[in-house]
Amino acid sequence: MEQSKAGTLIGAFAAFFPDATEIGSYVGGRLVAGTGQDIQLFDPATGEESLSYRDAGPEVAQQACIAAREAQKRWWSLTHAARGRILYAVAAKVREHNESLAVLESMSQGKPIRDSRREVEMVAEMFEFYAGWADKFYGDVIPVPTTHLNYTRREPFGTILHIAPWNIPILSFGWQVAPTVAVGNAVLLKPSELTPFSSLAVAALAEQAGVPVGLINVLAGYGHTTGQAAIADDVVKKVVFVGSPATGIRIAEAAAKRVIPCILELGGKSANIVFDDANLDLAAIGAQAAVFSGAGQSCTAGSRLLIQRKVYEQVVDKVAEGARKLRLGHPLEASTEIGPINNRNQYEHIKRMIARGVEEGAQLAAGTTSFGDRGYFVPPTLFAGVSNQMDIARTEVFGPVIAAIPFDTEDEAIAIANDSEFGLAGAVWTNDVARAHRVAGQVDAGTFWINGYRAVHVSSPFGGYKNSGYGRTSGIEALYEYTQAKSVWVQTAASAVTAIGRA
Ligand code: NAD
Repeated sequence: MEQSKAGTLIGAFAAFFPDATEIGSYVGGRLVAGTGQDIQLFDPATGEESLSYRDAGPEVAQQACIAAREAQKRWWSLTHAARGRILYAVAAKVREHNESLAVLESMSQGKPIRDSRREVEMVAEMFEFYAGWADKFYGDVIPVPTTHLNYTRREPFGTILHIAPWNIPILSFGWQVAPTVAVGNAVLLKPSELTPFSSLAVAALAEQAGVPVGLINVLAGYGHTTGQAAIADDVVKKVVFVGSPATGIRIAEAAAKRVIPCILELGGKSANIVFDDANLDLAAIGAQAAVFSGAGQSCTAGSRLLIQRKVYEQVVDKVAEGARKLRLGHPLEASTEIGPINNRNQYEHIKRMIARGVEEGAQLAAGTTSFGDRGYFVPPTLFAGVSNQMDIARTEVFGPVIAAIPFDTEDEAIAIANDSEFGLAGAVWTNDVARAHRVAGQVDAGTFWINGYRAVHVSSPFGGYKNSGYGRTSGIEALYEYTQAKSVWVQTAASAVTAIGRA
């Protein structure tokens, strides 16, 4: 691969794979070319073709399963402490390559370089967090009312398949892979076909840090071919999916046919509630960060901004003014605050949703209905005069679009917040501490912020309520999700008899 292609996606990828002749999957310690259809990718900043590669396909998925099964046995035979030490080394390796990983991520995903740098650092922190847990997560001794010693072992499933979306590729790697391997599993990761690059690079770095060859395999390709082939393979014992609700249902159905468990992390339409007693300046800044960071391509985006009527116009004006000041630009420009949308399909969906908002009678307080013809850029958009029944308030936009909805009372705010199929996140801004906790307790959401938005950390559980999915994929909860409890009974009475009718 030509490293000389400086400033191109291929060049950024070649920094990690200088000898590769084509992009493929990372299986058993090397890049393996796919056998499926060509996947054509486009530069989000220009809309021009960037490169193409072949979908991995079922044969490569099968090779990955074999590699994972063998590597998992070696990995599980190490001591817990040894696994932890290797994961600390992975963290150090990722940190050492922060800049080249961030460039690769920004060129592929389109996110501003400052965001990518922060996300790479978060990946290092995720490996450190779970490295620490590797020798501190174990079973219990249970005081059963018989003459037995009863204890539990937390055992790995074996191989876990992770299927990830395109909005947070490298973050997904840390989020999904670190806890999975920390408790002794092997991994098959199928990133989005649009953004496999940083995952391929980190998988290779992990092996350089001492992870056994074949323990972490990255399948570059489509979901309906490569992803489904992996779900169907006997080696895969659990599936963890992050993506859209429609795909999540398909994956859960495929997993159910094999009687293997599944975790789903799906979409959101989160309510960000501002009461009239809040610090409105902070709430307005928070409302922008809640949606415009990552150009709104965030599952937790606070895309429904619920504002108490007395301060509705004031808050709308503040958010609109802030939105107009945000700097859109090329992902690699240091001053860029909002990059392009990752892909054309999503760009068209966002434009359609903005047109739909106007058609429904909402007013554009910031943003536009006319867009440039180079790259997939959408300026921060704020709709005022929105009712919670409008499409713009019900459908996930997954773009930099806020729908501002007025409310009068606390009960009404909670009712509107919960009048959604989703339940991923939410927030409340108020100086009334009792109200803050009342609202936090009543909004159906897996993550909730008080006087803030967006904070997440590997040490805290993350997941959805309602159609936003089930299961928790960070914090200590993830370690329970990625292990199975085995109950072991040891008879301690000298002459106990196991007989019908006796324990
Ligand atoms: P998507 O559902 O289109 O794709 C997600 C992944 O599933 C990709 O890797 C894709 O290749 C794969 N896939 C697609 N069809 C498949 C099939 N039939 N079988 C197996 N795999 C298949 O989602 P997307 O457009 O990549 O991501 C955007 C969505 O992800 C949004 O809805 C967003 O809210 C959600 N998301 C959720 C979270 C969360 O933690 N809850 C985080 C990020 C994104």
